Amino acid sequence: MTARIIDGKARAAALRAEVATGVAAFTAAHGRAPGLTVVLVGDDPASAVYVGSKGKATTEVGMISATHRLPADTSEAELLALVAALNADETVDGILVQLPLPRHIDSDRVIAAIDPMKDVDGFHPVNAGRLATGLDALVPCTPSGCMLMIREALGDVTGLEALVIGRSNIVGKPMAALLTAASATVTIAHSRTRDLAGHVARADIVVAAVGVAHLVKGALLKPGACVIDVGMNRIDAGDGKTRLTGDVDYEGALARAGWITPVPGGVGPMTIACLLANTLKAARARAAA
Ligand code: NAP
Repeated sequence: MTARIIDGKARAAALRAEVATGVAAFTAAHGRAPGLTVVLVGDDPASAVYVGSKGKATTEVGMISATHRLPADTSEAELLALVAALNADETVDGILVQLPLPRHIDSDRVIAAIDPMKDVDGFHPVNAGRLATGLDALVPCTPSGCMLMIREALGDVTGLEALVIGRSNIVGKPMAALLTAASATVTIAHSRTRDLAGHVARADIVVAAVGVAHLVKGALLKPGACVIDVGMNRIDAGDGKTRLTGDVDYEGALARAGWITPVPGGVGPMTIACLLANTLKAARARAAA
């Protein structure tokens, strides 16, 4: 068997086009475009690249993009004051505080200070609770994108065995909640799981969100499984350079899986597209409130 590739770039382009149509309709109806504001504290180069891509993608779909770049020694009080000002700003529909924050700032406190209606990352406890209890919520972007790709590959997932490897609040837990809501039978694995190989062998769907290169060996997969690789790991490319790779042994998995996402070009592009979709959803909800 050779797995079919789930093309995240193509799926993300289709979603961005849908969002652009929605943004045009929103702007015509309300006399203003939806606005997404990103806050970046410090000078982490990877975060600066993400923030740049988010800003570009935001304006490409017709939304208003703003970025606040704050120095690394910004105090927690100063950041909370900015979040309060953005909460009160009627032109701001989505607020995204880029993580990780410098160590002297309590990320949980900052996330909890964001108006849940503007929490386009879906990390606020109110949105996490709404997702967990089956209410409409702003859902974290990465698992949202994974779910869209799983739906595209498999359609109905009712009763299928789904394994989510990783239990972070950003990816693993919301992913498990989405799969549970879709009536899959969900197992969550983590660093203390005893028999990861046994769980992988049983799974019709494997979502790997760990951060360990090639943790999931292709030979362990159930033949025909749908494999979603969230991992983004920098490894030595052998020529003095590094390259990006996933949590799944891609070559091995290609021979055994039914569907697989590449890294790069799988989950990553979908994450940004889902952020845009969340911002439009937040703008519509605020306009209707
Ligand atoms: P995280 O907060 O570090 O969580 C990693 C999870 O993996 C933890 O639950 C940890 O278990 C578990 N784990 C660690 N070693 C394991 C092992 N040997 N076997 C099984 N489970 C293990 O990471 P994250 O934020 O969820 O991100 C995970 C990966 O996805 C990273 O590579 C990250 O860069 C990537 N990512 C990609 C995107 C994208 O857009 N493509 C977005 C977000 C994240 P414990 O809880 O027991 O410690």
